Amino acid sequence: MWKRVSNFAELSWKLNNHKIIRKMSLIRNQGLINGEWVSSINSETFNVENPVDQSIITQVPDMNIDDTKLAINASKIAFDKFSKTTAKERSDLLRSWYNLMVKNSEQLAEILTKENGKSLAESRGEIKYGNSFVEWFSEEARRINGEILQAPMNNRELMIIKRPIGPAALITPWNFPHAMITRKVGAAIAAGCTCVIKPSEETPLTALALGKLAQDAGFPPGVINIITTGPKNSASVGKLLCEDPIIRVLSFTGSTNVGKILYKQCSSTIKRLSLELGGNAPYIVFNNSNIELAVNGAMACKFRNTGQTCVSANRFYIQNNVFDEFLNKFIQKINNDIKMGDGLSSSTTHGPLIKKSQIDNIENLVNDAISKGAKLHCGGKRLNNIGSLFYEPTVLTDVTENMNIYDREIFGPVAVLHRFDNEDDVLKKANSVPVGLAGYFWSNDVSQIFRVARKLEVGMIGVNEGLISCTEAAFGGVKESGLGREGSSHGIDDFIDIKYLCIGNIQY
Ligand code: ADP
Repeated sequence: MWKRVSNFAELSWKLNNHKIIRKMSLIRNQGLINGEWVSSINSETFNVENPVDQSIITQVPDMNIDDTKLAINASKIAFDKFSKTTAKERSDLLRSWYNLMVKNSEQLAEILTKENGKSLAESRGEIKYGNSFVEWFSEEARRINGEILQAPMNNRELMIIKRPIGPAALITPWNFPHAMITRKVGAAIAAGCTCVIKPSEETPLTALALGKLAQDAGFPPGVINIITTGPKNSASVGKLLCEDPIIRVLSFTGSTNVGKILYKQCSSTIKRLSLELGGNAPYIVFNNSNIELAVNGAMACKFRNTGQTCVSANRFYIQNNVFDEFLNKFIQKINNDIKMGDGLSSSTTHGPLIKKSQIDNIENLVNDAISKGAKLHCGGKRLNNIGSLFYEPTVLTDVTENMNIYDREIFGPVAVLHRFDNEDDVLKKANSVPVGLAGYFWSNDVSQIFRVARKLEVGMIGVNEGLISCTEAAFGGVKESGLGREGSSHGIDDFIDIKYLCIGNIQY
């Protein structure tokens, strides 16, 4: 029934402007179901493209709900055995996977750059960050302890035990194709859950490479399954993952719109849900801040992954006295530090946007703002001479409420700077959006630091810091930015059922 195609690919890469042929042992062009590399049942495929020039890297199966049912069943059968493994066994398995990821980091980074477009330096950073979740959860696996409770009667013993919730569905985005998978799978495996992973249609190759390494690490068949879907099948496969009663938890990272659809769909089976959705991060600089550091922080916070991260600074609020200094230094740094191009070239700091809809959206937002009176300080146009998905780093001021960019999540290399007068006003503005993922502020006043940290309506805060993600931290948002936390000791909670035991009639 399943058609096999070649299990590894030879690809030509342009690395530092030299064309080289690389045998990429981790490039897979099949999905992974029950320990087998398989094509889709109906043999359909879709193209995986390099966003730098839209060249086709390879094709992968366009799997539909029939393929997905096989993966779900495989995860169910595997769960029977896997849920009975000891924490130490799961810890060892994760550790072996982690060791292979570290050993193959460079190849993983090249695959990531090729399909996502981010610079090799950024990909290396993501691989290190993504690997760290697997290491972390290999350690956390052995600390999923229960509780002994004080019984209200003296012939009883009461306790709480923790059990894996069941097979998990993991739907991941294209902006962090490695880390968004390891952050979910690491926690699921530590808890004793099996998984069906549906990576983004833009970046399935990193997911498949991780699947290959999981196989090499000795994961039993059916414990990690990977379904690749093209744009045609993503919604129906997602719906099945929400509605199939075998799947007990859905963990999703992506847009708020899709998150809301999945939330509704999961109600039919009262599935556990972990949702990491969009943000609209305020980046506040108070008069008393260190402006050099605030500008450095803004560069990383705004432009990492060419602005395509859910924790990107999205609305800059700079207090009156330091507004001009911040603006001038920011523009200077953008001009000096950002070099856009093919991520595989060592001189490139920033790559293209991921797809046409992204760059069209950015262009429309900027053009709309300028046409309504916003002031453009740098950028403001496409870089068609490099490729059709490149957009210049852009800074706008004088943005007002009637402009579409005013309160939208931009998800691109465009910074909007607003002036503000006092703390109360800026907090009102910062909290005026329906989402609350990350927020950042710069201040050297200790009372202000605690005051503002308490009042900002977000799940994560950087105080005098623009890059805050790490495996030890609890990642997640409030309001419409989602449910649950990933990473940290809390990341496992979504994959655990708490069970209360009352042992009665004990003869003491
Ligand atoms: P973006 O707009 O940034 O691509 P999405 O939220 O659309 O973010 O995509 C994130 C993930 O959700 C991807 O894996 C994508 O395939 C998947 N996805 C998109 N639409 C749906 C849907 N209707 N149901 C389930 N998954 C979906």
